[in-house]
Amino acid sequence: MTTQLRSLWTLLLLLGLGVVTSCAGVQAPAGTSQSPTAAASPAMTPAKARQLAHAQAVDQPVRWLLNAQIIDPDKQTVTTGHIRIKSGRIARVTAKLPTAPGPGSLDLKGRFVLPGLVDLHVHSWGNPSPQKGPDHACGHAETARLMLYSGVVAYLDLGSKEQTIFALRQRLRSGKAKGAALYAAGPVLGRITTAKSHVHSMPNSADRQLRQVDGPKSARLHVQQLALHKPDFVKVLMDHTGDSQNVTQQTLAAIVDEARRHHLRVICHIGTWVDARMCLDAGAHALTHLWDEDDIAPKLLKDLAAAGIPLIPTQPVQVDMPHFAGPKVSWSQLARAVSPASLRKAYSTPATFVKKAAFWHGYQPQHVKDYERQLRALHKAGVRLLAGSDSGNFGTFHGYSLHRELLLMHRAGVPPWAVLKAGTTNAGRFLGLKLGVGPGAEATLVVLGASPLADMANTQRIVHVIQHGKLIDRKALLTGGSVGVPPCDAAPKLWPHHSTTHRGQPK
Ligand SMILES: [Zn+2]
Repeated sequence: MTTQLRSLWTLLLLLGLGVVTSCAGVQAPAGTSQSPTAAASPAMTPAKARQLAHAQAVDQPVRWLLNAQIIDPDKQTVTTGHIRIKSGRIARVTAKLPTAPGPGSLDLKGRFVLPGLVDLHVHSWGNPSPQKGPDHACGHAETARLMLYSGVVAYLDLGSKEQTIFALRQRLRSGKAKGAALYAAGPVLGRITTAKSHVHSMPNSADRQLRQVDGPKSARLHVQQLALHKPDFVKVLMDHTGDSQNVTQQTLAAIVDEARRHHLRVICHIGTWVDARMCLDAGAHALTHLWDEDDIAPKLLKDLAAAGIPLIPTQPVQVDMPHFAGPKVSWSQLARAVSPASLRKAYSTPATFVKKAAFWHGYQPQHVKDYERQLRALHKAGVRLLAGSDSGNFGTFHGYSLHRELLLMHRAGVPPWAVLKAGTTNAGRFLGLKLGVGPGAEATLVVLGASPLADMANTQRIVHVIQHGKLIDRKALLTGGSVGVPPCDAAPKLWPHHSTTHRGQPK
């Protein structure tokens, strides 16, 4: 039964099928107001100080970041210096304080600069309530804002309604919507025949979340249709954990081949290590998730490392229910900022969780050590790990959960520099982004009040977010007030045809 429950959860929640009965707004927490001033550091002369910009307004261009401790995950160095930003890129980094930095200079007073964070596994519809409702579902655009607020400057949606998600991607890229950079696979390709599957019974609208593939021919057709949207990746659901009939090796090979013809890369959701092997053999480009019940075979570890196939572990979705559940949970400032009070309250009483949430709450603690062991084995074998949260599921919150992924990776025994690379530069490269802290890198950075090398939880201590060389008004991202979109509670319902009886109750 265990695997069947798991499977059902996978099929329903990874597709972001939530109940949208109302929409609770996210409030800016007290004390997070963004009013960065360019005050002079003690080392500066009054003349230099006068030249520094004062009280930056909304999304102001940054010319200099002064007195920074610059964390370079690729070089594994922390250096003190000053960063010159020009045309959205890092122009140079110097140890010598510029004599006339001019307006648009921000004195960081020894704070830490890190390349922007990246989340490579997201379902950006919203966050489900573990109770019968309401969920926090204010639309995909809100997720883009919550991500950026959280220092997650780019994210990959691996399963959303295709027209909705590609339309948002277009709006973000054209500057009509504001938020983190969105990359998207669109709908999941899979073969789901479970009789009770809600996915299967969904109306076959054009704006679908799943493309049902029935054999190699059908698979090619779906990839061809999907390619018209220019997805950033193709996501395939491979899952031997439960009662879903799987995509066969032959069909998977057809998906990968057709994707290659359209210059698209394929990411496999894996349920077990059997799925991982099938995906590797078919030529998939990345894997996502871990499996708890069997250890990964040495041969598979070796082959994954040799093929350079990265794995996106998504520990938050696998272990974080207990992190939020219960009356005495203390939510961090960042977690509070990106979650509505209604959901925090819903998490406080596990006794009344819906069956699926209750199952996960009980199941996850038994397998924390298994996931940690798998992560250590993958890292030790040289398999590249990339960070992803699978947020949009129980026990996750958009933006915040990427920080949990990094912390959980570190707790599992992955060294801090490898964790930081997994969540910044390497994850950025996977999307084709040049994130970094050296000349030529995109000036998309987070400024932290303390070093993540001292404590990985410090990635949450965000002081500033800089996107393409502009200092972001983070508070405005929470309210939506200044970004040309209605506030959360005025947003339309996403899936009004769903009701609480469709919550995917386990059999
Ligand atoms: Zn997922």
